[in-house]
Amino acid sequence: MDANLEAILYLVSGVLFIVGIRSLSSPETARTGNLLSMLGMAIAIIVTIIGLGDITDPLTMGMIAGGILLGGGIGAVVALRVPMTDMPQVVGILNSFGGIAAVLVSVAAVLSPADFNILDATTNALFLGSSIETSLGVIIGAITFSGSIIAAGKLQGLISGSPIVFKGQHPLNALMAISAVVLVCMFVITGDATWFWAVTALAFLMGITLIIPIGGADMPVVIAILNSYSGFAGAIVGFTLGNTALIITGALVGSSGAILSYIMCKAMNRSFFSVMLGGFGGEVAAGADGVEETRPVKRGNADDAAFILKSAGSLIIVPGYGMAVAQAQHAIRELTDELTERGVSVKFAIHPVAGRMPGHMNVLLAEANVSYDDVYELEDINSEFAQTDVVLVIGANDVTNPSAKTDTSSPIYGMPVLDVENAGTVLFIKRSLASGYAGVNNPLFFEDNTMMLFSDAKKMVEDIVKAL
Ligand code: NDP
Repeated sequence: MDANLEAILYLVSGVLFIVGIRSLSSPETARTGNLLSMLGMAIAIIVTIIGLGDITDPLTMGMIAGGILLGGGIGAVVALRVPMTDMPQVVGILNSFGGIAAVLVSVAAVLSPADFNILDATTNALFLGSSIETSLGVIIGAITFSGSIIAAGKLQGLISGSPIVFKGQHPLNALMAISAVVLVCMFVITGDATWFWAVTALAFLMGITLIIPIGGADMPVVIAILNSYSGFAGAIVGFTLGNTALIITGALVGSSGAILSYIMCKAMNRSFFSVMLGGFGGEVAAGADGVEETRPVKRGNADDAAFILKSAGSLIIVPGYGMAVAQAQHAIRELTDELTERGVSVKFAIHPVAGRMPGHMNVLLAEANVSYDDVYELEDINSEFAQTDVVLVIGANDVTNPSAKTDTSSPIYGMPVLDVENAGTVLFIKRSLASGYAGVNNPLFFEDNTMMLFSDAKKMVEDIVKAL
């Protein structure tokens, strides 16, 4: 293929990726954004395959087609079968593929530099820049691979979600980081591949020791950080392969992953360094602070809730992880329609980390055709709770916990939360008094203006609709 045409087509795919990511910022344009990105990726793949130059060779094409069919087939089956609540661990596994791909390309380049046009004929060694690129590609790729496997294992519950800490952990990590730098320097200076293999092995180990001390509650942020690493690893490998599309895509994934990590850290009031240094967040949804709650609560049923909602002028619905588990969004939409017809003003308040992935609640509400105009972000609605008659919390817990504002010893202290307690009445739909993801008690359950509606979220909302 003509080099100019190839460059133009790569540019087109790069522009499609950028417009695609931009479109993901609103639920209204997100589908189009996905389609544009898919188109960009299709162009990039086709141009790269044609650029290989041997499209008439049945063996090469057969291997590529086989790889696409096998990988694409497995990906499609996994994507169709996995529940949305398990998406973070799937993203973790996908990141590990990005990491191992960067490792494999770097290893191939070191084993056979002439094929990658990175062999300096005068010295019979890799070009200086290429030896640095391959080293960086293998380090970031290997850390991403083993780190992502550990992160996915923790989220899936295959490995303990508790931080696994041991004495001398931080010095050990520091020693390994320094050793990696020394090994890379030796490889670059001597050109001896033994140093490269040593740093490869060390980087795989570093991925494990870096992620193992991080607790379950921080794992989603870690997934976003590893996503960013996999992007940067891809961009570096793009230089080795001389592939512009890979450089652009890798840089986009790397920078958007970094921005997402930052946003998530901010929403959970965690600093990037405290996440990476580990220790926070014990076993996922461990018993409420380990202390059994015995205080009495005000209980209600669907009829009580229907009566309160019928007489309300304004209602704010706060959905959380339990709504996703119960798949209650369609029933909630019915409830909203029913109440709106009766003249109740209904709004939705979405906390940035409600559910188990960024945008989790927005996606589910959009699926149930809840109008985007009725859905508000935390900072836009928090001041409105005080003027609201009723708040209906559906399967949310941590994102409403006021101890995040008052209890300095709480693991969620400092996380901005929805000020639901300021409303006239707070109705909580959940199955028990159990804690949420952070494993801490919610004092709101015991307040005078709170009524607990113990049930599966979908069933209770359907019952309220019936009662209305
Ligand atoms: P929480 O995890 O705090 O609480 C969810 C509540 O839902 C539980 O207390 C549970 O109580 C209830 N629940 C579970 N299943 C059902 C059901 N079928 N019907 C009714 N209720 C149910 O969720 P939040 O959304 O409030 O907070 C999200 C938490 O997850 C935060 O701590 C956040 O930091 C963390 N996180 C967020 C991520 C994100 O990107 N959004 C990623 C990873 C973690 P019960 O068992 O009594 O029913």
